[in-house]
Amino acid sequence: MALLDALYKEIIFEHYKRPRNHGELHPHTHRQEGVNPGCGDELTLFLNIEGERLVGVSFTGEGCAISRASASLMTEAIKGKSLTEALTLAGQFKAMIHGAPPAEELGELTLLQGISKLHARVKCATLAWVTLEQAVKP
Ligand code: ZN
Repeated sequence: MALLDALYKEIIFEHYKRPRNHGELHPHTHRQEGVNPGCGDELTLFLNIEGERLVGVSFTGEGCAISRASASLMTEAIKGKSLTEALTLAGQFKAMIHGAPPAEELGELTLLQGISKLHARVKCATLAWVTLEQAVKP
């Protein structure tokens, strides 16, 4: 457990320091702002959707380490996936952060499972995913 704990911290820190897919995306088909007022996290999500596929995804904004790392991990997880697959992942990720056992499809994202015990940080971890859902809701 200590090893997992260290790994979790390392992943968060690494993605916080060097977020993947950070910056505005050109071209993009969707742009959505997300805010978590409780912590002060703000992010803007950019999506480039061709047909049913997320061919591009990026984010900008300022936030705490958890919100930023979670957004970075999310962009890596959903890039190239179909919209349906991405939204399924969003549901599975939120369920895990709210305490459910993690779905196998979550892969590296399961490293964030520990956040389910940090109630104050749940909204930090789910911000990017909630923003994704808002971006593509009909
Ligand atoms: Zn936060």
